[in-house]
Amino acid sequence: MLCEVVVQGGKLLVKSQDTGLLKINLSAIRHNWRTLRGVFSGEHCGAVVKANAYGLGYAPVVQALFSEGCRSFFVASFGEAMALKKLLATRADIYVLQGCPEGMEMQFVSAQIIPVIVSETMLRRWCKAVQDIAAPCVIKVNTGMNRLGLSIGECERWLQEDAPWNAAQPQVIMSHMACADTLGHPLNLLQLERFKRLVGLAKKRFPGIKASLANSASLFLGEAWHFDLARPGIALYGGREGIPSVCNLRPVVTLSLPVIQVREISSGEWVGYGGEFRAEHKRRIAVVCGGYADGLIRAFSSRAVGKFKGHSLAVLGRVSMDSCVFDISSLEEGQCPVEGDYIEVFGPNCDITEQSARAGTISYELLTRLGERLRKHYIEK
Ligand SMILES: *Cc1c(COP(=O)(O)O)cnc(C)c1O
Repeated sequence: MLCEVVVQGGKLLVKSQDTGLLKINLSAIRHNWRTLRGVFSGEHCGAVVKANAYGLGYAPVVQALFSEGCRSFFVASFGEAMALKKLLATRADIYVLQGCPEGMEMQFVSAQIIPVIVSETMLRRWCKAVQDIAAPCVIKVNTGMNRLGLSIGECERWLQEDAPWNAAQPQVIMSHMACADTLGHPLNLLQLERFKRLVGLAKKRFPGIKASLANSASLFLGEAWHFDLARPGIALYGGREGIPSVCNLRPVVTLSLPVIQVREISSGEWVGYGGEFRAEHKRRIAVVCGGYADGLIRAFSSRAVGKFKGHSLAVLGRVSMDSCVFDISSLEEGQCPVEGDYIEVFGPNCDITEQSARAGTISYELLTRLGERLRKHYIEK
């Protein structure tokens, strides 16, 4: 058995053939970015690469997007921004979606990282700290999601008053959609109307200011939601939440698990912890390497399916830490997987968004929970 032990960032990683195989298709990421840029009617299509590019790895993902011409990258925190900064020798804009924590203003300025200002207090602090420096920032307004952002009233006051804290150099006015993946949700129009009005005011006051509203799903609500700068994330990585099925996006991530044992169980036998599955008749089962420590969340238990040579295989009983069990009873003897074969749990044959829905979650969660001991292969095809 091939086994590799590597030290990576101070951590010891063990990679051998008895772990799941994670293939990340960088050509597909590039294709998806081009496709979204084609749908987008505004000026700049950026990319959201927070949380280690949705779990897929900053370095290869950011390099792939940069090579396509993407120049605006969004991350969650300053730490993530610094990781990106190391990768981007050439100039690109790096935005921190959670803004600037108190006292870190000058660190943002000297690293040329752009904070998304998410409250009036943060705006006042920022303006005070950067008074005489032309340091760009983004102003985020809460148009209905009620998570982050200046309230509409605070935003109007900021745009109308000549207060000293108005020294900000806002490059972008931003808001975020709460229900873009639910066509016809009343918030979609309400947030759009509120944002449009504020953008109008902002463009009067700061003629060069850009507007940014759209995440992946918002790009498919209609051009009215597009504005100047788009912030797609999940659709780049093959997630299809809120994406019309006609849209030609490619799957990016394939997770395949090696079969380590095949066995027959008789009627009346149980499978796995808690005996959650009980066989009503004789079954043939395949035990694979890969469990919740690898990102197969426990909600997959008795709900998810795997794919093998075009056949759907149900997960039987509970997912364990390192393994889980598939039902292969419906396969003819000669078609059954044997030790060393791989069962796909998401990828080109098993849509990640459909799989996540079976487990009551979203592709975002599956991607960002992928385990470290998976063998990661970056491919181009
Ligand atoms: C995560 C995030 C996005 C990207 O959303 P997707 O649904 O993944 O396209 C865009 N904007 C903000 C503010 C975000 O937090």
